[in-house]
Amino acid sequence: MITNLDSFKNDIKSSIQAQSEVLRHLALKIHASPELGFKEKKAAEWLIDYLKQNGFAVERGIADLETAFRATYGTGKPVIALVGEYDALPEVGHACGHNLIGTASAGAAVASKQIIDNFGGQIQFIGTPAEELFGGKIVMVQNGVFNGLDAALMVHPESGVSTATTTALSCVTLYVEYFGKESHAASDPAEGINALDAMVIAYSSVASLRQHIRSSARVHGVITDGGKAANVVPGHSAGNFLVRATDLNYLEELKERVLNCFRAGAQATGAKLEYRWDSMAYHPLKNNMTLAELYTANVASLGLQIQIEDKSQSFGSTDMGNVSQVTPSLHGFIAIAPKDVFGHTKEFAAAAASEAGLQGMLNAAVALGMTVADLIVDKDKLPLVKAEFLNSP
Ligand SMILES: [Zn+2]
Repeated sequence: MITNLDSFKNDIKSSIQAQSEVLRHLALKIHASPELGFKEKKAAEWLIDYLKQNGFAVERGIADLETAFRATYGTGKPVIALVGEYDALPEVGHACGHNLIGTASAGAAVASKQIIDNFGGQIQFIGTPAEELFGGKIVMVQNGVFNGLDAALMVHPESGVSTATTTALSCVTLYVEYFGKESHAASDPAEGINALDAMVIAYSSVASLRQHIRSSARVHGVITDGGKAANVVPGHSAGNFLVRATDLNYLEELKERVLNCFRAGAQATGAKLEYRWDSMAYHPLKNNMTLAELYTANVASLGLQIQIEDKSQSFGSTDMGNVSQVTPSLHGFIAIAPKDVFGHTKEFAAAAASEAGLQGMLNAAVALGMTVADLIVDKDKLPLVKAEFLNSP
């Protein structure tokens, strides 16, 4: 027996099939013109053209970001957002496959129109620039772009196996400087205050600290100024360090412990410490298991392999984490390459324009559209998604 929901899911499939040539062309065009974060003018315009041609109303430059936009179809509640990325990396181009993310979400948004026509509510495509280099979604969350949504969905290309969840760490940058006193390193060393020594003490302290933190946490950094001449006691040193953790409470604890390492450098040498935590902190990804289960079932229904959980123990950070703290979110993955093809390499960039990449993008579009159908056609699902969001830390 074909239920109402099944028939809408079949319509999603037919709609993506009907658009498949346009979507392939769009993904390849974005791939062939890689643009860095906040400079994705062509990619944003191409996605906007496609969404406008399909009846979406577009607001450009949201959150004061030139290449961010929102395309809306329908009115009222519920509001389901499909999130699109389209930025590339320096040197290696679309080596994270964001050309496929923007296109899959746009295809899913257009395919979901028929659900809105039947049940009401809104589909939004939210174009989010600069995932790689700056974390555009962090600014967009701070500006309230993701408030008032019932769910935000996206799918990222992956190597190996498709998954519905991932561990993405919170991450914040610490900028540090020490101010000491220059003096002749041989004739007047007693007059100097060594800012490089302060930094080296701090660096070694961080290395010692690292043995005694949770295995999922990360602290790493570089020294960007260690003095200018070997015969001058360095009067200035600088560096920046990243602190990452799976939850925000532990991040706060770790930030204080890392800072103590830098205080130790100042204490030991007499150099003055100045520091600043970046306001653009990445938040951890709060996986919504209700959304993840729906996505998993939809991917599996296409005859593809998928695991609900990511067992790789390979942790990164994503600005979708910040979105997931304000609205129930899906950050699913679709496999487009064998597992030995790593992200951010030329090999992955080639996969993002390969037949497997394009097929993965089309499958992701179908699975996202089907998930929209689950959320709008089956009235029981969104309350579960929301309850889980409110009850999880
Ligand atoms: Zn990426």
